[in-house]
Amino acid sequence: PPARAHAPHLRPDDIFIAVKTTRKNHGPRLGLLLRTWISRARRQTFIFTDGDDPDLQLQGSSHVINTNCSAVHTRQALCCKMSVEYDKFIESGRKWFCHVDDDNYVNPRGLLQLLSTFSPSQDVYLGRPSLDHPIEATERVQGGGTVTTVKFWFATGGAGFCLSRGLALKMSPWASLGSFMSTAERVRLPDDCTVGYIVEGLLGARLLHSALFHSHLENLQRLPPDTVLQQVTLSYGGPENPRNVVNVARGFSLQQDPTRFKSVHCLLYPDTDWCPVQKQG
Ligand code: UDP
Ligand code: MN
Repeated sequence: PPARAHAPHLRPDDIFIAVKTTRKNHGPRLGLLLRTWISRARRQTFIFTDGDDPDLQLQGSSHVINTNCSAVHTRQALCCKMSVEYDKFIESGRKWFCHVDDDNYVNPRGLLQLLSTFSPSQDVYLGRPSLDHPIEATERVQGGGTVTTVKFWFATGGAGFCLSRGLALKMSPWASLGSFMSTAERVRLPDDCTVGYIVEGLLGARLLHSALFHSHLENLQRLPPDTVLQQVTLSYGGPENPRNVVNVARGFSLQQDPTRFKSVHCLLYPDTDWCPVQKQG
């Protein structure tokens, strides 16, 4: 009998990873990512920023997109970036869209493994919910003064989330070519909530809750050390909360590696030239 047709296996280049950053973070945050996980996922990674920086091209990142969105932390500016990320993904023809912040570590092999278990032609929205309950938003319907309420789950942008191409294409009336910004205005919510609103509130699809994505809104120290390398994304607390980092026993000291990303990276990719030489046997 003929061999049963099976889904073609997923290749790294089928995944589009959008990293949201801002000009002033290029030095303090992006450099670390370029030296760690992005160095193992160059062809998959696209950096979305708001200012030109010749240094960034020099560090070998070929995919840098200046969104020309304003460099401020407002809903409009952040939604402007998400809207460009979405359009570039659609244009790329790739199977999966994943969004992360510039304080996330992505485990490229873990991400590939996770997405391999789904079909990109189905409706898949995967990430960690910010809240333990759905958000309730007021929806201003165009034209009339009618206000309705909608309840939906959304994946926190700071932990990273993914969308299948199938679902992303269905989102197009509310997300493509700048319409993402008007959709966000309709509910007056940040970019990540607006994604949830489009997926769950408007399209009736569902967020698949995953515990493999992590933001610094959680207590990262509580992640069992023996599970850290299996996670798909990680984060760190930053200057306001420097102790909120993942627990990795081996590797660099806290002083040499305050975010723990270098230590995690050397455990995942020990052949990296700047990693400590492994002991024999
Ligand atoms: N960010 C941005 N423009 C800004 C400020 C922040 O694009 O004006 C990005 C930043 O690069 C990061 C994300 O937004 O990828 C979240 O920023 P941050 O981690 O500083 O704040 P959080 O919301 O996580 O506390
Ligand atoms: Mn953050």
